[in-house]
Amino acid sequence: METKKRKISIIGSTGSIGTQALEVIEKLQDKFEIIALAGGLNTELLKQQAQKFKPEYIYAARPVSVAGIKTAETLDEICSNKENDIILVAVSGKIGLKPTLTAIENGIDIALANKETLVMAGDIVMKKAKANGVKIIPVDSEHCAIHQCIKDISQVEKLIITASGGPFLHKSIDDIKNATPEQALAHPRWNMGKKITVDSATLMNKGLEIIEAHHLFGFDYDKIDVVVHPQSIVHSAIEYADGSVIAQLGLPSMHIPIQYAITYPERFEGIKSKSFSFAEIARLDFEKPDFEKFPCVKLAYEAGKTGGSATVCLNAANEEAVFAFLDGKIKLYNIYEITAEMMSRHKVVTNPSIDEIFAIDEDVRSQTREYINKLTTKVY
Ligand code: NDP
Ligand code: MG
Repeated sequence: METKKRKISIIGSTGSIGTQALEVIEKLQDKFEIIALAGGLNTELLKQQAQKFKPEYIYAARPVSVAGIKTAETLDEICSNKENDIILVAVSGKIGLKPTLTAIENGIDIALANKETLVMAGDIVMKKAKANGVKIIPVDSEHCAIHQCIKDISQVEKLIITASGGPFLHKSIDDIKNATPEQALAHPRWNMGKKITVDSATLMNKGLEIIEAHHLFGFDYDKIDVVVHPQSIVHSAIEYADGSVIAQLGLPSMHIPIQYAITYPERFEGIKSKSFSFAEIARLDFEKPDFEKFPCVKLAYEAGKTGGSATVCLNAANEEAVFAFLDGKIKLYNIYEITAEMMSRHKVVTNPSIDEIFAIDEDVRSQTREYINKLTTKVY
């Protein structure tokens, strides 16, 4: 018997997650119907995708048109279309927040890659999702792992998030301080967008993931541990009250968590490069994260524990600093210093509304840019 096709839209189809999602959908063609594909500036790729996958709509951040396919005016137009069974939010940065809220308000399930959405507005997003009976299935591999491990959340004691450690895991502090964008972008395990790759080098990515986990699963920060695991085979784990630890393992490929999130609760044979062999992997190493070398993790814990707008500030200051690093304006370690400085200046607003969150985000970004400009004219 043929099952009903799942109707899906992808926001950010031209990015690293988006293109891999389309590879999964191509493999599972009989399971999906694409309602909309949306991208930013890479309209050439969006057009190719549209011609191949024939969605009802496309959207780009600049003018685009493809014969026979409608062009949406806004991301909100796509996310309020109730034809969608699920929307994959795979844009990077704060662009993800509004469309996610719109989809939730329209009762559409979300496969969420965009972690900034939860870092900026996790309380509001999760509350709205609950009120609207909307499922938020994480795409981020660690959270997807935890989602797969949890049977009865009320009996889980602790979440254990694994971190590959990034390209500078065993490098000296001096090496990290002087790292170039090229070195920071050479991630040993994952091929991702630039922003998240730099976050992986400073381990801020892990910091953002701790905040993401707090919101997705409702755990206090002292019940969320981070362990470095360079092979990226154990994608995360949970510990039950009785001491049992359940982990999800797999070869490092984003196809697996993307597929899990968009086909949940079903599972199908997907894109597997080869089958899993413990014997071939042979060893799995674990070590404590070094907070001296990677202080961004500590900063994120602090922001998370403070709550309110502290995580909005963390996210905005870090993102601006990452852009400045990629532009060659600052050094890698300055990302931490700049973000910490912005955090210390920030006056925390408890329970900010969405409008307040966007205003704070803008304000922190402009202050961060100003601070960076002063720094770079003075120091370098
Ligand atoms: P990329 O930079 O590769 O892709 C970003 C996507 O967002 C692109 O499709 C881009 O379009 C689109 N975009 C940017 N601005 C706009 C806009 N104004 N309107 C519409 N679309 C826009 O990022 P990743 O795929 O690496 O990451 C996406 C999200 O997923 C991030 O939040 C990241 O933290 C998260 N994530 C990523 C992982 C990974 O393995 N890559 C793993 C876990 C989480 P265009 O290119 O056309 O400009
Ligand atoms: Mg991750």
